Amino acid sequence: MLISQKLRVISQLRISSKNLIRIRSKIGSHVIDTNQTCQIYNCNLNETLIHILFKCPLYLTLRNQYLSAILESTIVNSTKLNQLLIPQSVTQLNNLYFYVIEALKALKH
Ligand SMILES: [Zn+2]
Repeated sequence: MLISQKLRVISQLRISSKNLIRIRSKIGSHVIDTNQTCQIYNCNLNETLIHILFKCPLYLTLRNQYLSAILESTIVNSTKLNQLLIPQSVTQLNNLYFYVIEALKALKH
């Protein structure tokens, strides 16, 4: 897997709008409407990037596996998001990439 393909996925997260998250990757195209309520476990929260990356219980195992090292150091969600979306190492890039791909698979949109 080329680093450029992974960066492309992260870039799509970075440029996602307030209302739509579009991700095209090797597993297909996913469009997430952030105005829709997350249906998983009756979260009753909008399916935003912050919800998917930090909050939704569906991805708890994935989050512990891939993101915990990055997330431990910060408290504020907006800062976490900025920190995540600008990976500082290949390891961070890989972790975020695999989190996103596995989360999208779980989402089955
Ligand atoms: Zn949720």
